[in-house]
Amino acid sequence: MLYVDGKWVEADELAVHPEDRGYNFGDGIYEVVRIYKGKMYQWDAHLTRLFRSAREIKLDLPWTAAELKDIAQQLIVKNNLTTDDDAILYLQVTRGVAPRLHDIPSGIRPVIMGFVRRKERPLADQKKGLTAQLVEDIRWLRCDIKTLNLLGAVLVKQYAKEAGAQESILHRNGIITECSASNLFAVKDNALYTHPADNLVLHGITRQTVIDLAKANGIPVHEEAFDIQFLKQADELFLSSTTAEVMPIVAVDGQPVGSGQVGPMVQKLQQLFEQHIYSEVLV
Ligand code: PMP
Repeated sequence: MLYVDGKWVEADELAVHPEDRGYNFGDGIYEVVRIYKGKMYQWDAHLTRLFRSAREIKLDLPWTAAELKDIAQQLIVKNNLTTDDDAILYLQVTRGVAPRLHDIPSGIRPVIMGFVRRKERPLADQKKGLTAQLVEDIRWLRCDIKTLNLLGAVLVKQYAKEAGAQESILHRNGIITECSASNLFAVKDNALYTHPADNLVLHGITRQTVIDLAKANGIPVHEEAFDIQFLKQADELFLSSTTAEVMPIVAVDGQPVGSGQVGPMVQKLQQLFEQHIYSEVLV
């Protein structure tokens, strides 16, 4: 069952208004929350980011934090998720329905939609690592907003796939930003490097968790921009996201990263991340 604009419906009953601004303009925001063992992981951080995205696109969310959490929890219950289930919860808010003009209309009601989908952790890929291709970052200059406008992300992923890789690593004028749907970290001399959380990258919740876990375990973290040359000399590379967690990248543009194998820092961070998941959701 999906939650759409105050109602519980099945997917095939769903009708989108032709002038919903999410549909016409991608004028809306979203979050993807991980569910481990039937429980939400880091809900509060996702909610905080949803409210921030709303503020940044000048959208007033008419729901309280408690109401949104209630919708999320009802999605879990109505879809019969149990402590055996790993899943994702998708929540989006569009600005609402209005005659198709670019101007932000006043007095319209935002439209909310949520669903859950069972999804296992990508453990096989985490052991083996992914291949990546460098692609020019063609997205806009507000990548910090988690907007429904994802065409740039869709295209860069496709460019990477057409070049034979599984992921894209994006660069702006030679400076590495992130991946199409995840943040990127380089490991050099036992320290972590990642782009600062500014307007050019999404402020990933997993990115912050990785930074916090690394610092708590004595691993230096540099939130500094770095270039393609640095990337190509990294000892290890990995990406971070809600669904991929800590995912190694073992080749870039057909060349091995470091030894070409999943390295010891990534393995250590994967272990710390897994402990964090289970300390949060298995309480
Ligand atoms: N960067 C981009 C462009 C993303 O779309 C995402 C989310 N899939 C991330 C980073 C990772 O964010 P999070 O860790 O909050 O899932």
